[in-house]
Amino acid sequence: MQLIPKDIPMEFLQLLPEGIKLVSRHGHPYLVMDRVEDAAGNSLMDDSVRIHGEPSIKLHVKVENSEGLIFVDAYWGSHAKLYSFIPDFSKGKTVEAFSPHDDSSLMVPWSCPIEGCEETHGIRLRLPGGLNTILVCGKLGCPGHHIDVARVAEGVSEKLSNINFFGEGEEELFSAI
Ligand SMILES: [Zn+2]
Repeated sequence: MQLIPKDIPMEFLQLLPEGIKLVSRHGHPYLVMDRVEDAAGNSLMDDSVRIHGEPSIKLHVKVENSEGLIFVDAYWGSHAKLYSFIPDFSKGKTVEAFSPHDDSSLMVPWSCPIEGCEETHGIRLRLPGGLNTILVCGKLGCPGHHIDVARVAEGVSEKLSNINFFGEGEEELFSAI
């Protein structure tokens, strides 16, 4: 999978929230989630499963009758994932995500901004400190995501939320772990 460089809003770089770091690959800047947490503050990062060279975000998920672990690329705007099981990828399926620590639900009400998606369930990832959050669309294969950072203006969050480093579409990396 190819990394596509995108402009990162300067206002965001100046106030980079804890839990997100800036990395340089092939001379281009990328934002990488360094630490995201469940609602209780447990880290969801997994050092043993790396995607694009960075620790992945580990979630326990259920899709209808199947369930297992999912490892999500920590690169902001990437939709690469590794699965410990084979979910049903047919369109319109909603994922239910849980903390792998205590199985507490990570689901919150959500109104997906992607045209035609209409998903109403999102996955909430907390950044350290609890003030800032990342929301990811609960629909399988949907690239919808949003970042809420308390200290930057709404317009900056919007710009950042619209970054999809890897373009649209299905980009899951299939693997049995
Ligand atoms: Zn969506």
